[in-house]
Amino acid sequence: MSYMKALKCRECGKEYPKEALHVCELCFGPLEVAYEYDKIKSVLSREIIEKRAPNMWRYKELLPIEGEPTVGAQVGFTPLIKANNLAKALGVKEIYIKNDAVNYPTLSFKDRVVSVALSRARELGFKIAACASTGNLANSVAANAAACGMESFVFIPSDLEQTKILGTLVYGGTVVGIKGTYDEVNRLCSEIAGKYGWAFVNINIRPYYAEGSKTFGYEIAEQLGWKLPQNIVVPMAGGSLITKIHKAFKELNILGFVNGSSKVFGAQAAGCSPIINAVKEGTELIRPVRPNTIAKSLAIGNPADGYYSAKVMRESGGWGESVTDEEIIDAMKLMAETEGIFAETAGGVTLGSTIKLIESGHISRDESIVVCVTGNGLKTQEALQGKINPPTIINARLQEFDDLVKAGGKEYAVKG
Ligand SMILES: *Cc1c(COP(=O)(O)O)cnc(C)c1O
Ligand SMILES: [Zn+2]
Repeated sequence: MSYMKALKCRECGKEYPKEALHVCELCFGPLEVAYEYDKIKSVLSREIIEKRAPNMWRYKELLPIEGEPTVGAQVGFTPLIKANNLAKALGVKEIYIKNDAVNYPTLSFKDRVVSVALSRARELGFKIAACASTGNLANSVAANAAACGMESFVFIPSDLEQTKILGTLVYGGTVVGIKGTYDEVNRLCSEIAGKYGWAFVNINIRPYYAEGSKTFGYEIAEQLGWKLPQNIVVPMAGGSLITKIHKAFKELNILGFVNGSSKVFGAQAAGCSPIINAVKEGTELIRPVRPNTIAKSLAIGNPADGYYSAKVMRESGGWGESVTDEEIIDAMKLMAETEGIFAETAGGVTLGSTIKLIESGHISRDESIVVCVTGNGLKTQEALQGKINPPTIINARLQEFDDLVKAGGKEYAVKG
């Protein structure tokens, strides 16, 4: 049973059949999935959801597939951590980390969007999965395609982190490195999608794909006891995740599962901040940039959903902030040292921006805050090369260790 009504143009409202379409032919606006909320309301409750298995498909009535999911049955329901040590370090009352660094199977939130995209692509009869990626999407498309028996073609900028490249190749699909930026990769992929007709998850399947991000928001609300945080800080690349978290919170209100709203804040790297620039300048126009940042997963210079992300920040009462590469690394270390969470560079962008938003008073120290961690630090280790003290090397002799302890200047009790 599906509650997906149609694809609908975000601009002019024209409805389209539920096929592999993504742009309105009348006004070129993006298409979005529309649902029959009154029907969903009559079959779904918080109690029903709570009894289901701990994965993102516990919200399946709100996801755009017609049958049961066939890809990524284990994805989602990642921990929401009450970060008390971090709260103390930042001088705030209540801060949480939603930790998709441990999302199954490829350790980023992209497994959410890919499991929806590929489940839907298979319903539509596609045999080949493809994407244009800044890294994490590449990992996830390759892995999930392998697991469901689809062929995969993954297109990436050729200068991505080694772990993200290796962590795509290992699944055995075709990986094509393009000499250029993500935006150039994406442009080429639009042409390939048109010519070969494959399921490009973030191009012709994008309306379905993007809906998977809503589960990140549903889970936060459920894990807070069906409450919304007063503030939420979200990393932005193309700007899809932030708009879908906002949509998720609105839907939960429509269904009567929560009551209220969150101020939504966006985070980008200073070396690629076209959306933040627009928010700070108070303009609706997103000026594309050429990315230059260690946060490669967020390095989209011409964000597809930039306009809508800026609108979400503005209309929810939120704001946006960007951080330098140095601030990204400092924030990655702070998160690791206070909470034991090793997030990728994007996590450093989000926490670093959160800190600046607190210091500038845009986020109140007395209000609840959720920081969205979307990827795993083991995948972006290059960013920390030379930025962290190396281990001390000694020979396997007790005397050398004793000398080391002595040199450290701190006293430890010994047994004799
Ligand atoms: C893709 C990605 C995002 C943001 O994606 P949007 O394009 O804005 O939806 C955030 N964090 C990480 C780690 C990502 O890989
Ligand atoms: Zn339209």
